[in-house]
Amino acid sequence: MTSEARELPRVPRDKDDDYGAEAVAARLAVLREACGAELTHVAAGSVPAAEARGKVENFVGHAQVPLGVAGPLEFESDEGPVRVYVPMATTEGAMVASYSRGMRLAASGSGIRTRVVRDGLSQHPMLVFADAASACAAARVCEAALEDCRAITKGITTHGALESLATEVIGRRVILRLVFATGDAIGINMASRATDLCLRELARRTGALEQHVHGQDVEKRANARAFVEGRGRSVVADCVVPREALAGLARTTPEALVAIQRSYTTGFAQLGTQNWLVQAANGLAGVLLACGQDLAYLTESATGMLDLELDANGDLYVAVTLPSLLIGTVGGGSGQGTARECLELLGCAGSGKVRRFAQILAATVLAGDLSLMAAFTANEFTDAHERLGRNRPEARA
Ligand code: NAP
Repeated sequence: MTSEARELPRVPRDKDDDYGAEAVAARLAVLREACGAELTHVAAGSVPAAEARGKVENFVGHAQVPLGVAGPLEFESDEGPVRVYVPMATTEGAMVASYSRGMRLAASGSGIRTRVVRDGLSQHPMLVFADAASACAAARVCEAALEDCRAITKGITTHGALESLATEVIGRRVILRLVFATGDAIGINMASRATDLCLRELARRTGALEQHVHGQDVEKRANARAFVEGRGRSVVADCVVPREALAGLARTTPEALVAIQRSYTTGFAQLGTQNWLVQAANGLAGVLLACGQDLAYLTESATGMLDLELDANGDLYVAVTLPSLLIGTVGGGSGQGTARECLELLGCAGSGKVRRFAQILAATVLAGDLSLMAAFTANEFTDAHERLGRNRPEARA
């Protein structure tokens, strides 16, 4: 009998030890009964179930995604030279090869340089008042409360700190912009807890009619703030690629690349997108997944700009700006199993590493966009996918 033909039982839970072997086995047994499949791979993870505590509920095992490495990637960060292989978890054939080629191309001239230009996680709660005049008065009260909000934040985290508090009045609503330093974590847990506590205090002081901790909900959606103000780590990367390298490695020219980007930006302008990069979402998804990041932040992380210009020597200048990388080398899923190992591969595991991680991502995105644009100009994109990316499962069945 198929599972659709009968009631399914509730997922078994053990209130004393929900990550113990018995609880996991009980859930797997229910799933096997429901679908008739053995679920061998789901159940076969090498990471102890206990490590999943705080990361997932109703734990049954681990998902698997193929892992490849692009590189070597070499660049000059604001902390000195970086030389790494970049792990990417993906099922998109041709992608890792494209990034690897871009890394070679980018290393052929000046080499990539990266800089972190901003670092702070913003939260945008909202207070609602009877009218616009009350909202304006309340905004002033809120801004004057910065030091008290700093003290509230200090009470709940040692690694986080409230950096600034600004307000915007929209009709009878006040949107607050609280920006937190978050150490090496994304910091969303510490920032949302601190924001909740600060908002309660500000609502009390201003007599707000309503308070909404996720008032203007920038979380996990592409948005104008992510593009203009930045959120998380904001990073730039640039390099010069010699004309000869483009000809030899990619069968294209600086002029062709500048021209194609001009056309792409026209298209992006009409789309109204905040992602003016070409394949940032590809490389970022691959590395974020490999490194145990919260993948839903790809929506904001794949925000940014690509610049292609002809320099005075007739070579290609390439720049990438990623204003909203929501990443952490501590916390979330970064500390376990393959995620921890992939961060180790990048020299990015643990405290003091998030700036390096952010810059590796920026250099990777630059390499990928350079390679893909070159493939477009040389009309090699479809051929590469035909060669490397088509699986044709029906032909093999
Ligand atoms: P987290 O998993 O809460 O880890 C941060 C913790 O690590 C803090 O307790 C901090 O200590 C400690 N820590 C130790 N060394 C640190 C260092 N060098 N830098 C920063 N913290 C350090 O991390 P998170 O980034 O805040 O949260 C990420 C998780 O939250 C992800 O799993 C994500 O999916 C999930 N999430 C939560 C929300 C939400 O609204 N709460 C929304 C989206 C996603 P101190 O406390 O002493 O500072």
